[in-house]
Amino acid sequence: MSSHDPNCIFCKIIAGQIPSRKVYEDEDIYAFHDIAPWAPVHFLMVPKLHIPSMAQVDTTHERLLGKMMGLAPRLAVEQGCNPYPQGGFRIVCNTGAEGGQEVHHLHVHVMGGPRPWARG
Ligand code: 5GP
Ligand code: ZN
Repeated sequence: MSSHDPNCIFCKIIAGQIPSRKVYEDEDIYAFHDIAPWAPVHFLMVPKLHIPSMAQVDTTHERLLGKMMGLAPRLAVEQGCNPYPQGGFRIVCNTGAEGGQEVHHLHVHVMGGPRPWARG
């Protein structure tokens, strides 16, 4: 699997070829505000490695995905989500067409802030 897809919008964001509002960056992960937020706090976390979706994830990605999940609560609070349990946040990973995925570079949506902004 290629680590970078020159036609991928999120690879271009990671490379700085398309501007974004950065939330966090390290050698493996980039996080940035969603351009069309659904919630008062709404950012995306992506691996720098171009993985098309969760459907392509395998055990070689365990450390990477674990690192992303481990970072999410800290970044959520830094971005203005209220603390658990009264506050909290929602993580969504749309996968494939029927899963509502539009950008085919694995990403998790982290959403939070005062409701109402989502069903369920
Ligand atoms: P998906 O439906 O694939 O899970 O979500 C893709 C998300 O990427 C959408 O929420 C959309 O608003 C966001 N998005 C698409 N293009 C851009 C962009 O160029 N910049 C930023 N910051 N977000 C984008
Ligand atoms: Zn990509």
